[in-house]
Amino acid sequence: MTTPAVLILLGPPGAGKGTQARMLEEDFGLVQLSTGDLLRAAVAAGTEAGKTAKAVMETGGLVSDDIVLTILAERMGQPDVGRGVILDGFPRTDVQAAALDALLAGTGQRVTAAISLEVDDEAMVGRVAGRYTCAGCGEGYHDEFKHPATPGVCDKCGGTAFKRRADDNAVTVRERLKAYHTQTAPLITYYDARGVLERIDAMGDIATIRSRLGSIVGRVAAH
Ligand code: ADP
Ligand code: ADP
Ligand code: ZN
Repeated sequence: MTTPAVLILLGPPGAGKGTQARMLEEDFGLVQLSTGDLLRAAVAAGTEAGKTAKAVMETGGLVSDDIVLTILAERMGQPDVGRGVILDGFPRTDVQAAALDALLAGTGQRVTAAISLEVDDEAMVGRVAGRYTCAGCGEGYHDEFKHPATPGVCDKCGGTAFKRRADDNAVTVRERLKAYHTQTAPLITYYDARGVLERIDAMGDIATIRSRLGSIVGRVAAH
């Protein structure tokens, strides 16, 4: 039996983690697991953790490791993750990376690869400011870089309602970029030391990055 792949996408806000994770789900049958999405669901549900997280997310800082690890562990316990996962936006701190290693060790697993999406910070401000998603299925779009084929209609589900994130503004994104560089970028060294780091130039168009990523995932996670 092959052990399910555990892939990590590392990169600042706007790097394309969510966009590419959804395409990796289609291309490789993996399951996207986004702590940002899980936290936004907790905020929408109005749980205690959600209320605490909301205040932090609005400032562009990182939610506490305790809250994030609790929701992550709960999600990792669900059966569909047995197909292999793409972690999008997790881990973001060294505490989270160590906790992930411990969680995986419990089932004899380890991180298959951590893929660092390398981009220019300045370009990320425009990517984040122009981001919007389908309210029905979560498909991501961009004002300039990714339009639905029929204006106003989601390519994936035919929905016509779209939404924008409250934290996707020029002020908050600068705080999120800072948090990335101080707290998350050091994980590049962490995974490099474990021999599982892959770096890709993520400044091309979406289809180009998809094929670059596909060749890495095909090599490291082929069943
Ligand atoms: P992340 O999950 O890393 O924050 P997203 O995947 O949500 O980033 O992408 C941010 C925004 O940029 C979205 O609106 C998306 O449509 C767009 N986008 C993603 N990848 C690219 C790319 N390679 N070139 C241009 N725009 C992109
Ligand atoms: P992006 O990729 O655009 O930065 P995310 O959806 O991954 O957006 O994250 C949005 C916000 O949710 C972050 O700014 C942070 O406040 C919080 N968050 C998401 N994942 C984590 C995590 N692993 N640890 C701490 N905070 C997180
Ligand atoms: Zn949709």
